[in-house]
Amino acid sequence: QAKQAGRNAFRFFTPAMNLQVRRRLELDSALRNAVTRGEFVLHYQPKVQLAGGHVVGFEALVRWNRPGHGLVPPNDFIPALEESGLITEVGRWVIAAACEQISDWSARGIDPGHVSVNVSPRQFVTGDLERDVLGALANHHTPLGALELELTESSLMTSTEATIATLTHLKDAGVQLSIDDFGTGYSSLAYLRRFPIDKLKIDRSFIREVARSSDGDAITLAILRLGHSLELEVVAEGVETAAQLQYLRRHECDQMQGYYFSPPLPVRETERLLLARPTLADADARWALAAG
Ligand code: C2E
Ligand code: MG
Ligand code: MG
Ligand code: MG
Repeated sequence: QAKQAGRNAFRFFTPAMNLQVRRRLELDSALRNAVTRGEFVLHYQPKVQLAGGHVVGFEALVRWNRPGHGLVPPNDFIPALEESGLITEVGRWVIAAACEQISDWSARGIDPGHVSVNVSPRQFVTGDLERDVLGALANHHTPLGALELELTESSLMTSTEATIATLTHLKDAGVQLSIDDFGTGYSSLAYLRRFPIDKLKIDRSFIREVARSSDGDAITLAILRLGHSLELEVVAEGVETAAQLQYLRRHECDQMQGYYFSPPLPVRETERLLLARPTLADADARWALAAG
């Protein structure tokens, strides 16, 4: 990049750039300590079955409780973790923490349904995902079938024998597999039949367009049809409005996740929600009331 800039290459060494480099080095070193210091926490966002309207599971979403910075959202530090390779270690922590939480709830008679965790492509390539997951399930005596992994399309692009073996072993151990942000990655669809996938999650960017413009629903509808014809469950993420939900109900989407029902919640609030057992009908009533 500096070479392309040619004679103007000196521009790269401005004070602003120095600051950026320095911030990045600080971020990397703070992240290196964050795991050992126990600064990561998981929040849980409910997923609701459209038929019946009950909570059927949660997505575990990581946050970084960075001293002096408050609760940092994942988009501000996951990319840095992926670049430095630390994502393998943090990803391992996320898997273990989710398994421990499921087991803790289970021991207290609380049933969250399934809990999904996000898996970065790097965990597939450099880490030992299979060992991490099977190890965490065994260590925490996690109930069979409660853990789900959210994979991205890029994880599945390299369809080596090893990928197929890993996914098959995980499935055999009762782990559910879903494809996150479906439709935003490379669209080689062949892997859908080659891999033992259970669910597709329609990305929020497509849900946002539903009920907005005349053909704003085109991609959402295509994913719903594709998923159903392959007998996969389809989950809509980022559902915020009654109009979006109405569309998803009409086209028999299986599950929804989004602010319309609930944002991601800290553990205590998640437990409170599980005790209160709200349904989608409660959310409908709340929004109808708010709309007057
Ligand atoms: P994602 O897996 O697609 O997760 C959904 C994101 O959408 C979450 O953001 C969630 O809070 C947000 N969201 C849910 N419903 C709504 C809604 O109705 N409206 C809007 N505007 N947003 C909604 P969050 O928690 O900030 O996470 C962002 C991304 O960070 C995740 O996207 C995921 O790719 C990544 N991520 C989170 N936790 C982990 C993790 O443990 N490991 C890895 N590798 N990535 C993670
Ligand atoms: Mg996800
Ligand atoms: Mg997603
Ligand atoms: Mg998404």
